[in-house]
Amino acid sequence: MDEQKIAQLQEIIDNTDNIVFFGGAGVSTESGIPDFRSQDGLYRMKYAYPPETIVSHSFFMKHTAEFYDFYRDKMIAPDAQPNAAHLKLAELEQAGKLRAVVTQNIDGLHQKAGSKEVLELHGSVLRNNCTRCGAFYDEQYILKADGIPVCEKCGGIVKPDVVLYEESLDMNIMTKAIRCISEADVLIIGGTSLVVYPAAGMIDYFHGSKLVLINKSSTGREGRADLVITDAIGEVMSRIHV
Ligand code: ZN
Repeated sequence: MDEQKIAQLQEIIDNTDNIVFFGGAGVSTESGIPDFRSQDGLYRMKYAYPPETIVSHSFFMKHTAEFYDFYRDKMIAPDAQPNAAHLKLAELEQAGKLRAVVTQNIDGLHQKAGSKEVLELHGSVLRNNCTRCGAFYDEQYILKADGIPVCEKCGGIVKPDVVLYEESLDMNIMTKAIRCISEADVLIIGGTSLVVYPAAGMIDYFHGSKLVLINKSSTGREGRADLVITDAIGEVMSRIHV
């Protein structure tokens, strides 16, 4: 690890009390949650459709049972635990230095680590609702259901509060996220690259002093960032003192 860059990051964090963190799939991979979009051979053998098709609104409506086979297998990880990145971000919030976590992940690990202000752009697997009466169900209910989970109260199909392909993002959460980013002094982007939507669009709202990018792989297009650390986000954050 580049010690000089860790020291630079420490200095940036020491000198502000208005950090916003924007995180992608890479934040959760260190907790053992694979990016479901990454297509490995097993996927292709086991499922008749590509993940992008399965995790879409129209597929959910037409092939609900197959959706849930994939969902239980690939998208829920009830035993996953927060890693060093989640824990350090919660510590920074507790210390009054971090205002919000904006995340594309749906695993609820930031809250599990103790973070309070978490803006989940793509929803959460921890929340599920009946499509007919709106009744709430937790993750365990989905896991334990045999086949398609149905509502105990009205028999309607239960749907995860997760933004599927073809569905639009929650505008309230988007608006809040954009406000946090536009008011931030330091924006740390972790576990995603600057070139992929929605990170690419979100940084346009940032007008603060330091933009930090921490990602395992480099895209070669980090021009806007003041500090770029090409390393795993958990390993980097574990080195920071609050
Ligand atoms: Zn119901």
